[in-house]
Amino acid sequence: MYGTERRGAPLTAFVRIDDVRVRERELVHNPGISIVLDPLIAKEQSVVDNLLPGGLVILNSASEPEDVKLGGDFKIATVDATTIALETLGRPITNTAILGAFAKVTGLISVESIEKALKKNFPGRIGEMNIAAVKRSYAEVKGPVQATVKDAPAEKADIHVGGYGVLKDVSSWRVFTPEIDVDKCISCKACWIFCPETAIEWDEETKKPSIRYNACKGCGVCANECPVDAIEMVRVEA
Ligand code: SF4
Ligand code: SF4
Repeated sequence: MYGTERRGAPLTAFVRIDDVRVRERELVHNPGISIVLDPLIAKEQSVVDNLLPGGLVILNSASEPEDVKLGGDFKIATVDATTIALETLGRPITNTAILGAFAKVTGLISVESIEKALKKNFPGRIGEMNIAAVKRSYAEVKGPVQATVKDAPAEKADIHVGGYGVLKDVSSWRVFTPEIDVDKCISCKACWIFCPETAIEWDEETKKPSIRYNACKGCGVCANECPVDAIEMVRVEA
């Protein structure tokens, strides 16, 4: 479930796995396993709220599973899927990168099966890069360990419905944050014009832009449009 947002914006997806053909197509309301691809969404308790008792959470996080501040009757495993994806795919696309971790901690599917599927669907170099990401996350996943935090944080992630930064805080969506070098800026206003979230404000006195970070979802459009590379997308540390 997702809105009309950029690649990488929060969404929720479900899959059922069985040894027999799965005909059930309704939403999964109480999953046994929650895979969290976005390291910033991972701090939100709602990613585990509806887990079945004794469930498992696999987080894209550079943290040790013991340090994750989520509480309840479930186990936690962590893997730094963003770094793996950046180093193997060259982009922060974490879905295949986290599959290896899933295979390792659940035993529900083998790495060989994932490799076969990737080769079939992505022949050539793209498939090989994704396979490398899967193998690294298989090797580097930590845990699972029992969740230890008893008091759940009150914070809730609004991950089901797409929206706009002018209406709500979307800062937790960012994997990369734009930073403007005003000395390089030639005041062309391209970033202000093209930002899809109207997150860029224009100062008529200085003729320079600035960013309202609570409205910025980190899409990188401003950096792409800037003709003098005055905007750098800097990775956010979770
Ligand atoms: S990254 Fe740039 S273009 Fe995208 S929402 Fe943030 S300020 Fe706007
Ligand atoms: S696009 Fe670049 S040069 Fe143009 S106003 Fe924005 S930061 Fe300045």
